[in-house]
Amino acid sequence: MSIFLFLNGNIYTMDAMLPRAQAMAIDTGSGHILAVGDNDEVRRAGDRQSELVDLRGKTVLPGFIDAHMHLIYAAYRSHNIDAETCSSEDEVANLVRQRAAQTPAGQWIQGGRWNKNVWPDQQFPTKASLDSAAPEHPVALSSKDGHLLWVNSLALQRAGITVETPEPPNGAILRDGAGEPTGILQEEGATSLVYDIIDKRDPVLTRHLVQGKLKELQQAGLTTIHDIEESDALNLFQQLREEGALGVRVNMILPRHMLPELRDLGLRAGFGDDMLHLGGIKIFADGTLGSQTAAMLDGFEGNPGNRGILVLPEQEMKETVSVAAELGMSIAIHAIGDRAAHVALNSFEQAQRHLADTQTTKAPRLRYRLEHVQLITPEDLERMHRLGVVASVQPYHAVADRDIAERYWGRRHRHAYAYHTMQQMGIPLALGSDAPVETFDPMRILYAATMRNDPATSQQRPPWLPDQALPVTQAIWDYTMGAAYAGAEEDSKGSLTVGKLGDAVVLREDILSVPQERMSENGVQATILGGKVVFGEV
Ligand SMILES: [Zn+2]
Repeated sequence: MSIFLFLNGNIYTMDAMLPRAQAMAIDTGSGHILAVGDNDEVRRAGDRQSELVDLRGKTVLPGFIDAHMHLIYAAYRSHNIDAETCSSEDEVANLVRQRAAQTPAGQWIQGGRWNKNVWPDQQFPTKASLDSAAPEHPVALSSKDGHLLWVNSLALQRAGITVETPEPPNGAILRDGAGEPTGILQEEGATSLVYDIIDKRDPVLTRHLVQGKLKELQQAGLTTIHDIEESDALNLFQQLREEGALGVRVNMILPRHMLPELRDLGLRAGFGDDMLHLGGIKIFADGTLGSQTAAMLDGFEGNPGNRGILVLPEQEMKETVSVAAELGMSIAIHAIGDRAAHVALNSFEQAQRHLADTQTTKAPRLRYRLEHVQLITPEDLERMHRLGVVASVQPYHAVADRDIAERYWGRRHRHAYAYHTMQQMGIPLALGSDAPVETFDPMRILYAATMRNDPATSQQRPPWLPDQALPVTQAIWDYTMGAAYAGAEEDSKGSLTVGKLGDAVVLREDILSVPQERMSENGVQATILGGKVVFGEV
């Protein structure tokens, strides 16, 4: 047993019983906190072999917990080519040429976000430029809106698309005068011809990319993530955990379609250990705001006939939620529009009633969570509170979506992303990023939560719906204790409390005394996991 004594700090514990402390002792063998208090009290928890760490007055918080992210997806997003800022076909081809030089021949080069509408000639690009950039690699680059796929000759060849290929239903293969495919595939009927044959994720590459991302999480001060992904992620995390190479604790949230397999295995949420465990299942109730597929009680602004899409019929959602709840699975439902939230709450309400009727023992410790919960009626907010449903929210969405929220929701936008209202009503909040859709940098997320603005553009734009800003201490609490509660881990994480895991972050500046507008510049000096410094120095 090796005890680390962290002394002379400015510690905000997020524990109401002892909000401030000077020091803490952590047993790095078990990873648990032995003592929190002033230097003298904490020294008594150590022995002669204890290591002393002088915090030199630095500010310490519990490690941040990101309640909603997609890690493998984030790793690939950074790896893939991003052509969004390219202003010509040649510029994109140059990115491909550089990537080809670092990629073994025959391996796919993917990515996209190119947008010919901002190029000088606005012409469709062709396979020719990609062929000269990457003759030995199949290349597939999706357009910014995702409706076009630009490929090279090798990709066409692998997909078996030739001059003889008939026009697919629900799509088009652009061709030259001789009927030869030009390298542009339109809409799903055509793009799926290529997507269907792209190699499944290469496990060696995936591991390499994920390890890089895990380092970035540590650098950002994150000590736990709720990862919403598939079994390949769970499998990789298990391997990394076995090797002691995980470095960040993972609460795994698996997709709805795996529920029957989880039931067959008899698994319940919580299965696993301190580094990696099963958190629950994820259900989609609707689509997105940007694509106007969020499920709405009333139509979108200017398009009253469109009430979005409920991607799971209400009856089916109720059945799924009930089965999951009976198995003790936490349930995270993606709900962007107010109709999606309404239907999701109906299913939570029914499942809770059913459990109360049938469960003879104490109700299992599961969480009912609404993910995003961007628009919701006051009545349903009331119901969230009554049912104890967690609002798992991503403050960066609020500032990134402000324009489309106003455009597509009209006056309703004033009740959107209503974090402060939720907090005042007593609805438990958990903060997260939804990375890679938005940044997972906690300092920028805290800025968005407390300033209702994007630090990159705050000089040019006023805060958006500033009444919904969270007080700084509350936002930190939601990012630590709140997220721990969303993961049903509030007994072991979220605050610096004796008996909990010794996960903490040391900041360069005191987050509660620097001017708020400088919050996003505050940085992480060190990240501590189970008492061990896994990033930086103290
Ligand atoms: Zn997400």
